[in-house]
Formats: sequence, structure tokens, C-alpha cells
Amino acid sequence: MDTQDSSLSRPYCIICKDSFSLDTGNLLPRIFDERPEWKASLDEHGYVKNPAELNNVYFSMPWHWKCIGRALITHPGKRYRLSGVGLAGTSIPLPRSSADCMMIGDILSADHDKPEIKDLYVADLKHRPVGRASTCHMIHERCWVLLTRVLDACLIEDNLSVFSEIVMKHYRSPSDIPSPRMKDDGEGAWNSHKDKEESEKCGLNNPRAYAQLYSTDLPCNETEHALRDPWKVVDVWEQIKAEEKKWGRERRRKPTTQSRKARRKNPLGAKLPPELIMEILDLLEDSKQIRALMWAFPYWGARVPNSYWRRRFIDEFMLEDEAQSIPGPTALNWRRLYYKTERIHLSSHGLLNRRRIVRISEKLKTSFLDALDRRN
Ligand SMILES: [Zn+2]
Repeated sequence: MDTQDSSLSRPYCIICKDSFSLDTGNLLPRIFDERPEWKASLDEHGYVKNPAELNNVYFSMPWHWKCIGRALITHPGKRYRLSGVGLAGTSIPLPRSSADCMMIGDILSADHDKPEIKDLYVADLKHRPVGRASTCHMIHERCWVLLTRVLDACLIEDNLSVFSEIVMKHYRSPSDIPSPRMKDDGEGAWNSHKDKEESEKCGLNNPRAYAQLYSTDLPCNETEHALRDPWKVVDVWEQIKAEEKKWGRERRRKPTTQSRKARRKNPLGAKLPPELIMEILDLLEDSKQIRALMWAFPYWGARVPNSYWRRRFIDEFMLEDEAQSIPGPTALNWRRLYYKTERIHLSSHGLLNRRRIVRISEKLKTSFLDALDRRN
């Protein structure tokens, strides 16, 4: 993928190096179809503003996550600033403050309550918009969220010049973390339909069905997968629900005897207190390491309460703001589900994309902290 191709009139994200989706298939971007309240706010105010909500949304269209971003703005004299969040375009009006989060509708019709807007010129694009615009580089909002799970957001904002140097070096260098080479995941065809009427004629009025058409036969592995939403991945929920159903069926058939079976297999191991086993497991980073340990000590798994496996599952899949809506410790076999972590990752376009972006973020973190050390 040529990330430096400025003939394409769309910005690229300086973290994942993938393009923004311009969502130009309609008079108004279709992203507003995602939520009725967004449509209502658009009609009433001319835009949607809701910082908390955006990070919680599972988009029905698989490309909508790529429409939203924030900008790293360069001012004359190498001063840097991080903008708020908005819809990407070839000319990009974004909120001035990084604390504001906004999805822009028709900005000219916005009422007096609109946040302060900054017109930006994306450095990679050929055409500079009319008027005075600052140069910027774009970051997908989802990539920013993942980066800030690895690196403290305040530390980045307090040291934006160092961060800019590191991230631009990463953006311009060939990456040792491979980009998935996906030729066509349906985005181009979707965006090429200019209006709703035409889309409906072509059967493209049902985003989920359309996305499904393109998802069925797509390769899905570490080197080739579609660039699905790396933050809110519905595949995780499908796995939780499937396991919940399976557990329900099993419990109706007969009560579980797993822990007794495990004790019979290795009575000596069963004597180790669960608290101690959990302390040992806490030292391990991920499910791969835990599974390796469980090969050596298979009886340990059943000694650990379901609530522990549930918490690890939530942490591993970054379901931090959804813990309340996730089934409780006794609703399913959390240990069995947790053991499937690697398999779930390898069968999900979104999770594979997330894994790639997290790896990039970890590399950026190392370079950023090293650069801060050298500076101090
Ligand atoms: Zn990105």
C-alpha cells in the first residue's frame, strides 16, 4: 500500500498508515444514518456533538470508523496542537480544542452554540483550500483511542513536538509491521453510489446486508484482512453470546463436574490455593502465555473462579466501558471462552486490525519514551 500517494484526494492516518474514508456517497454523509439521535441533532443544530458516545458506537457500516479523526496541527515556528474530532474530508474543519469531540454536518447552517472551528489543510493532499489554513496530519479517532490505551494521552499532549517527530518518522519509513494487502473489501463500490435513490436501486440500502456480501469470502489472517473497526468489534459479542447459549444447553443436560474431574486427574495440584494461582496468572501478559502454563498444569484452570476468567476476557478484548452489560460470572463458562482468545482474534478482521495498530502503538511508545529520556 502506497501511503504517500498524494494523487488520491483523501488523507491518510499517520498511525496505521491507512486511508480515511470520505463517506461521500450521499448529499450528507451516511454516517448520520447510524443513530436516529444523530439525525435529529443534525436537523436541529447542524451537527452532532457528543464526546462520550462516539467511543461506544458499533458502526453498522464497516468503513464508518475510517471517516472520523483528529488532526495533529503544525503552526508556523513548529508549534503543535491536537484538534478535536470530526469527519474527514479534503478540506477539514475540525474543533480547535482536543477536548471537544464533534461530527460535523453542514457547518454553515450550524447554530450559535457550535464549537470553535479550525480550517485545516492536510499536508499530504495536493489541493490547499481557499483562505488561511494550518497544515495538519490526520489520525483516525479509533487509532488515537488504541494508542492512548498504550501511551498516556496527557503525556503525548504535553510533549506534542516530540510525539510529532516520532510519529512522522514512523509514517514516512517503511513499516516492519505488515499492512494487510486487501484489494477490495467493498468500500469503493459503496462510496461510488452518489445518491440514496441509486443506492436503493442497486440493493445497497441495507448497510449490514451489503457489508455481509463483502465479508463472507474475504481472506482473514494476519497478512490479509479487511480494515474493519479495530475498537468496537462485534465479533467479540457474538462469541460471548454463542458461549452463553452453549453453557445454557450444557447446564440443562447435567450439572458441571469439571472441577471434580480436574482434582481426580491431579490431586496434588488441587491443593494449591486459588489465590496463589491467580497471583501467578496475573504475572502473565496474555492468553498465549496462560495457555502455555495450562498445558503444564491443566488442573489449575478449574481452581480459578469464573470471575477471574471473565475479568481477563474483558481486559484482553478491551471491553472496558461495557463490563456492566457483559453476562455475569455464572452465566457462561468464562474459562473455556478465555481459552479461545487466540482463535477469536485470528477469525476477526477487526481484531486483527486492532492487533496491528496496537503493535504500531507499542513501537511508537518505545521510541517516544526514549526520545523523552534523551531530551531530559
Ligand atoms: Zn489509523
